[in-house]
This record gives sequence, C-alpha cells and structure tokens, in this order.
Amino acid sequence: MSNILNAFLDENLQELRDQGLYNEIEPVEGPNGPIIKIKGNDLINLSSNNYLGLATDEDLKKLNIAAVNKYGVGAGAVRTINGTLDIHIELEKKLAEFKGTEAAISFQSGFNCNMAAISAVMNKNDAILSDELNHASIIDGCRLSGAKIIRVKHQDMDDLRAKAKEATESGLYGKVMYITDGVFSMDGDIANLPGAVEVAKEFDLITYVDDAHGSGVTGKGKGTVKHFGLEKEIDMQMGTLSKAVGVVGGYVAGTQKLIDWLKVRSRPFLFSTAVPPGDVAAIMGALDKISASTELHDKLWENGDYLKAGLKKLGFNIGNSETPITPCIIGEEKLTQQFSKRLAEEGVYAKSIVFPTVPKGTGRVRNMPTAAHTKEMLDDALKIYEKVGKELGVIQ
Ligand code: PMP
Repeated sequence: MSNILNAFLDENLQELRDQGLYNEIEPVEGPNGPIIKIKGNDLINLSSNNYLGLATDEDLKKLNIAAVNKYGVGAGAVRTINGTLDIHIELEKKLAEFKGTEAAISFQSGFNCNMAAISAVMNKNDAILSDELNHASIIDGCRLSGAKIIRVKHQDMDDLRAKAKEATESGLYGKVMYITDGVFSMDGDIANLPGAVEVAKEFDLITYVDDAHGSGVTGKGKGTVKHFGLEKEIDMQMGTLSKAVGVVGGYVAGTQKLIDWLKVRSRPFLFSTAVPPGDVAAIMGALDKISASTELHDKLWENGDYLKAGLKKLGFNIGNSETPITPCIIGEEKLTQQFSKRLAEEGVYAKSIVFPTVPKGTGRVRNMPTAAHTKEMLDDALKIYEKVGKELGVIQ
C-alpha cells in the first residue's frame, strides 16, 4: 500500500473510532422482517425502511422468481443499449400512473437517481435552494450538478422566499430550483409543499421533491405530493423503490418532456446496467398492492401511533414526527449509542443516529415501526424501552 494512503487511513479511522463515530456493521442472518436475527439472537426490528412489510412478501417473492425464470437474473446491458426489457417500460408506465404524472423514468437506486436527475437538469450557471436537512444523495446530486447551492433553513418558508428573491433578482443564475425531502427521515416531519409551491410560483422555481420516505406512507400510500394534491405543481417527483415498495431502485415522475430529457441526459441511465428483471416484477407487484388497498398503509399508521403514544407515556422525548417514523431523542452522542446498545442486549434493534447525521446534542434512537409488527411486539419493545430508559436515567 502507498505510504501516504496508509497514513491517511490510520489517522482518519482512529479519529472516527476515538469519537465513537465508527459504525460497526452487524449482518442480519435472515429476512429483514419485524423480527431479525443478529449474532444468533432474535430482536424486535425497529430500524428497517420496510414500512409495509413488502420486502418479505410471499406474493412478491413468487413474482420475482417467475420473472427470473422468464428473463434471467440480469438485464444484460444499460438501458440505452439493449438492457431495456419490456417490463422496464411497463414499470415506468405504472410509476407515472401511481404518481399522477404523464411519464416516469426508473433507476438502479434512489441514491443514483438523485445524483442523475438533479445533475441532468441543473448546471454551473444555475442555483439550487436546498433544505438544510435534505438527504445526502440530494446534497451529492446538487454538488455534482455544479450549480450554486444555497441552504434554506429547515422548513422555513420566509427564508425560502428571501433566498428565492435574492437568487432570481441577482441576475447571476439561469434556472433556480427548490429541492426538499417530502418526509424528513430523521424527524418524521412532512415538507410544507403548499408553502413551497406558493414561493415557487412567485419566482418561477423548478420544484423537486424526494419522497423516499413518503411513497407508500403519506397520501394514502401515493406519497406527499398526492397528500397535498400538488401533482400538477411539483415538477420532479422523485422516490425510491427500496423502502415502502420493499425492493430496490429509484424513479422520477413528471411530464413526458422532462422524462424524455432525463432518458438522454441521466448518466446512470446511460452508463449503468438496468435493474434486474426479478426486482422489476416484484416492484410492479408492490405498486399494485399499494394501489389496490390501504390495508397495509393503515396498519403502518396504527402501529406508528401506538408506539408513539407508548413512548410518550413513558416520558420519552419523541420530537415532532408527523409520520410513523418515531425518533426517541436522547441528546448526548455517547449516551445515545449506549442506549441503543442496551436496547439490543435486551431484544430491540433500534439504531442510534448521531452527529454528523443529525445536529450535535440531538442524538436519537430512531424507530421505524412497520405494517408487519404486531401489537405484542410493540408492547415488548415498550417494556424494554422502559427498563433501559430508567436504567440510564433518561426517564424517571
Ligand atoms: N433519499 C432519501 C430521503 C433517503 O432517505 C434515501 C435512503 N436512505 C435515498 C434517497 C436513497 O435511496 P436508496 O436507498 O433507494 O438508494
């Protein structure tokens, strides 16, 4: 190994370990359902994004296997050579219907979708107004575009208006975009899209919503844009196929013109192999299920409300979540990590989230209940929370 790389790695890894910020990965030994096995122990799983339990759904497994039998395990090429299978086109039609738009384009992941779509539309002559708590993939997509990035205070429409006015009146930029998560994954709050649309109309901003945590969850399953009835107002509706949908991938839904452009200018669409056919079939099955019935959606919200009420009653600070995402704010980083470790020892897997993912001093254990949890599992989890909370002095 080069001496300089060796020294760089030693120094930086040690620094992370000293600060307690090095994340040791613990593999899950089986399906990522409401109960997971780690190091041979069964734990109540409150850390997955498998909101509707579809990642382990029996019908979707069958669809996946049938597609593998028909098409094979891989798509064989990038979309623009000959990796576009008929089911990729079918999926994109379904996504457009699901999101109430003219067209849609799918990608291999939500992360590369943001990198691709933002940088295909924005360039170094432009500016992007970006909520300060936006996801890392949005930040990276904005950076990749080369546009000027202007951070907007979290959900602050006055700050957005002031910065939109300044950016558009300065004459320095071509296009100006406002970009926001639809649901913020660390706090569970829902973006003020009506407020953002009002500002966007005033200053002709391009609007981009990353609804990774909203699709399947808000808007009776159809997402945050639908929740506010703004399908005609938001220019770019981005989402993932890896969370509530339970599989893998990302997409943008919008006008036919926008999708035509993304199909010729999104680099992962042009240069990275298409989503495997088994995944495509399972995704379509999941979208059908979400569209056909709100049963899983309703169960998810019921479980979210139940867990929130239970933690609140025990005296925990659960923040201001408006969705099933349930943060339990502990505060200091080391205490937060210790809390999560003790929960795991007692039988609950709920990951700690600390700086730099969230601001210093707001460390939290984030709980993601799903439609697949039973009341008994949530009651067991609450008992363990009570025990660990009292032991570590977080509650009385
Ligand atoms: N956007 C947001 C808001 C996310 O939370 C995530 C996933 N952590 C992504 C994009 C990336 O999605 P994926 O995991 O499908 O790549």
